[in-house]
Amino acid sequence: MANTEFGYVRNFEQLDALPPSNWIVVRIDGRGFTKLCKKYDFQKPNDKRALDLMNASATEVVKQFVDVVLAYGQSDEYSFILHENAGMFERRASKLATSVSTAFTAEYCMQWSTFFPDQPLERPFPTFDGRCVAYPKRKILRDYLSWRQADCHINNLYNTTFWNMVLKGGMSTTEAEYALKGTVSSDKNEILFSKFGINYNNEPLIYRKGTVIFRAYDTESEVNGGSTAGKVPDPTSKSQMEKAKKRKQKARIAVEHVDIIRPSFWEVYPYILGTGAGKSSTE
Ligand code: ATP
Ligand code: ATP
Ligand code: MG
Ligand code: MG
Repeated sequence: MANTEFGYVRNFEQLDALPPSNWIVVRIDGRGFTKLCKKYDFQKPNDKRALDLMNASATEVVKQFVDVVLAYGQSDEYSFILHENAGMFERRASKLATSVSTAFTAEYCMQWSTFFPDQPLERPFPTFDGRCVAYPKRKILRDYLSWRQADCHINNLYNTTFWNMVLKGGMSTTEAEYALKGTVSSDKNEILFSKFGINYNNEPLIYRKGTVIFRAYDTESEVNGGSTAGKVPDPTSKSQMEKAKKRKQKARIAVEHVDIIRPSFWEVYPYILGTGAGKSSTE
């Protein structure tokens, strides 16, 4: 068969399975969004419609990929966290990154008109790149998420101050940039308050904290798939895996703008980074 003659080319493919027992982060990021923002006239510093579209797209991705336990998004990026035991695509990095980023891209383009009804999408259509990183410990994964949320805070504080100086303060972008050089957070808070009467802490949470998406289970039995305390289901059994998948597909998807740096979020939802059988995420 022709296949046998040509089949050897498969040996050139690189193995890219991510190591077992690692938390996998698939981060997608909009390509050239600085330009796209200008083209579609995104409001500065934050265009709520664009963030809502990102969140609506991410919600569909979380629904579709049941191995995703949590997603965190800000600006033109989203991080999808796959459970340490996730087995999807044999954990192959390129399959995961391309499948998630293309699913996200398709949602973003297909849902665009809902959020921007007066601005038809034109070529080049928005696309998102994707990459995978494996983190060997919950603690490091938590630090990763803290890093992204801290980035959201730093950028948003800067952008809020910068755009107030430009749009309300009458400065040119160059002047505002120069004035903000070397300033620390407290300086920016002070500028916002004294010059523009803005208390940064009252700015909408979606801008300050970004967006967290996860499956919300309202009862203990929903978390454990109906098993009573003490009876731990065998997570490797095929029928249990099918049941778990169905349960995840049925779950309510929560979309929240909350702090995920401090422990309180993880204490309220210990099952998000748990084993599915009661192990707490704070361990
Ligand atoms: P790359 O292709 O390398 O990612 P990029 O132009 O997309 O390049 P980013 O670093 O990803 O660069 O930055 C995204 C830009 O889009 C930032 O300037 C950010 O402020 C802007 N942006 C993203 N979302 C919004 C939004 N909802 N409202 C206003 N601006 C936004
Ligand atoms: P995976 O997600 O692993 O890629 P898959 O179902 O996409 O799974 P492929 O190996 O990619 O599996 O096979 C694609 C399937 O789609 C094949 O069965 C192929 O015959 C069918 N297919 C693709 N294009 C066409 C087409 N134009 N007309 C009819 N069948 C098609
Ligand atoms: Mg980008
Ligand atoms: Mg970005």
